[in-house]
Amino acid sequence: MRCERFQSFLPDMVLDPARVPADVRQHLGECPRCENDWNELHSTMQLLDEWRAPEPSPYFDTRLAVLLREAKESAAPGWLERMRLRLLFGSDLRLRPVAAAAFALLLVVSGGSYFGVVSLNHTYPQQQQAVSATVNDLELLDSNAKTLQELAAFDDTTGDANSMATAGSLSN
Ligand SMILES: [Zn+2]
Repeated sequence: MRCERFQSFLPDMVLDPARVPADVRQHLGECPRCENDWNELHSTMQLLDEWRAPEPSPYFDTRLAVLLREAKESAAPGWLERMRLRLLFGSDLRLRPVAAAAFALLLVVSGGSYFGVVSLNHTYPQQQQAVSATVNDLELLDSNAKTLQELAAFDDTTGDANSMATAGSLSN
């Protein structure tokens, strides 16, 4: 019983010892198990006090910008495929039907250019243009996905109609 009482005061023992009643503090000298718990918590808190986040390298922003640009410039079907899989089979299952519809719509709008089924005689500059258009569309798709997530979150707060609809479409 005294152990339970001591354990309930354990955070105060570290953060605000003045609030801990004397009889609770006394338990520290009487019970090795609780003393051990207190020592562990106390040393953890001391480590946190001493810990300093490392300064980022002065070139971090520059290098990150370069990496982002390279990733965009190398935008390949692989990137699109990963995006598609993330949208269709992402952690949030409620978004699957919506995401699939959005992706299908995007495919129609883009005229299938994602899969290289545009013209057969395209030249190098046209390819470059296609890549940047793809990147633009992917960015648009990403922001659309965020909007859809926000809408889904909003729907969760507005009642059961949405969950019924979602349950119906998930059982397909
Ligand atoms: Zn104890």
